[in-house]
Amino acid sequence: MAATAETFESTSPADGETIGVFPRMGVDEVDRAVATAKEAFASWRLVPAPKRGEILYRFAHILEQEKAALTDLMTHEMGKVRAEAGGDVQEAIDITYYMAGEGRRLFGQTTPSELPDKWNMSIRTPVGVVGAITPWNFPIAIPSWKLIPALVCGNTVVLKPATDTPALATRFVELLHEAGMPDGVVNIVHGGGSDVGDRMVRHPDIRVITLTGSRETGVKVLAAGADTLKHVHLELGGKNAIIVMNDADLDLAVDGIVWSAFGTSGQRCTAASRVIAHEKVYDTLQTRLVERVEKLRLGPGWEDDTEIGPVINRAALEKIDSYTKIGSDEGARLLTGGEIATEGDLARGHFYRPTIFADVEPGMRIAQEEIFGPTTALIKVRDLDEAISVSNGIKFGLSSSIFTRDVNAAFRAMRDLEAGITYVNAGTIGAEVHLPFGGTKDTGNGHREAGQAALDVFTEWKSIYVDYSGKLQRAQIDD
Ligand code: NAD
Repeated sequence: MAATAETFESTSPADGETIGVFPRMGVDEVDRAVATAKEAFASWRLVPAPKRGEILYRFAHILEQEKAALTDLMTHEMGKVRAEAGGDVQEAIDITYYMAGEGRRLFGQTTPSELPDKWNMSIRTPVGVVGAITPWNFPIAIPSWKLIPALVCGNTVVLKPATDTPALATRFVELLHEAGMPDGVVNIVHGGGSDVGDRMVRHPDIRVITLTGSRETGVKVLAAGADTLKHVHLELGGKNAIIVMNDADLDLAVDGIVWSAFGTSGQRCTAASRVIAHEKVYDTLQTRLVERVEKLRLGPGWEDDTEIGPVINRAALEKIDSYTKIGSDEGARLLTGGEIATEGDLARGHFYRPTIFADVEPGMRIAQEEIFGPTTALIKVRDLDEAISVSNGIKFGLSSSIFTRDVNAAFRAMRDLEAGITYVNAGTIGAEVHLPFGGTKDTGNGHREAGQAALDVFTEWKSIYVDYSGKLQRAQIDD
């Protein structure tokens, strides 16, 4: 691909170190990448699916060998702490093994015909060129959730990663080529959403756009894709809640809340940014959470004793801080945190102290809007009905959780929480790759990532009727 004159830098959110310099591409580069992917589709779709799967098995193996290096790069480029960065890479390994196996499945259905001497079946067929637009918060896992199922199904891909994590995405694509992916099947373009991303969404030769990002971006992408009747798959934001009932194991609940609210510095779409506590445990929970959270050690992700890494960039830091002011102005009580951390080396990066608000009303902005940082809001409720209604009283529907020892309460929550994911006696994070992942309401538009559900995003069903009667048989008309 021809080099573009303009470039941009990827820098570490932990200390400003330059990670790499990348070409800032434009419409022409997108068009070239799409043309390449379109040409490659003609042959890739005809490679037998088990052979496509074999390349992916090799890729999974390479990812395992490269796990330590990718993990290390992620602690620098994206800022996650080492354990979580390793988990991000492991998610890619898991989905790749899982989806490589689809090469020998990709099941359709065979079914009887209503007419004699006739054979009916349905098969999955690839859609064409897939445009994958990804965020920075799972810089290896999310590209893998999109590319690996797309590829095993026989599609070719143009990937546009977030401009905050281009080095990881570039390495991901290099490793796919090392595994034996034929030229042109996987292409990467770098640049901003409003130019490079937008061109992909409007490009007539891209048939599927799969986007993970914010609700605002999702709305724009859905509208821009309408003119070309694109299949648009959206994984958007969340405002996930953990319910803690009065009979909960509080030690476990505190562990679950700390992990879900402050892991990845709260920058997970499934982060627990609300905690809905029964009035009988509300005060105890407050005290115990503050005690735990104030001990968390902030620092660069590559240092082994770091528990909370930086947030992704200056704009994110300012947005998170502005929500602290919004929460205080709304009348919520700041229990801990609420400030940018600047002592010592932390001043070189974008660090925010883990923040907990109490006395939060369900309608407050800090309880409704996605902050995408280490901030959580405690809301007091009287009973399970109120807890479920508060949990549901938001526009998003991604993840949800309840801590209780009452099996009846657990089953009611499983039935009534309006979310794509519900955890019982675990926090709001921890998805496994063989189950569908995604959300209801404004979190998406009805599709799911991962699991068997992902195949529906990247294939079209074809129904096939084979009549071996030797005469014209008319469905619904001939007996
Ligand atoms: P973002 O929406 O700003 O950007 C996501 C991607 O979309 C980037 O690659 C960006 O360049 C691109 N983009 C932006 N505007 C575009 C446009 N007009 N046309 C085409 N592409 C465009 O999101 P972000 O800040 O990178 O990530 C954080 C958001 O992602 C949060 O809202 C979070 O909840 C969400 N997220 C959701 C999931 C999920 O699975 N539901 C997972 C992770 C993150």
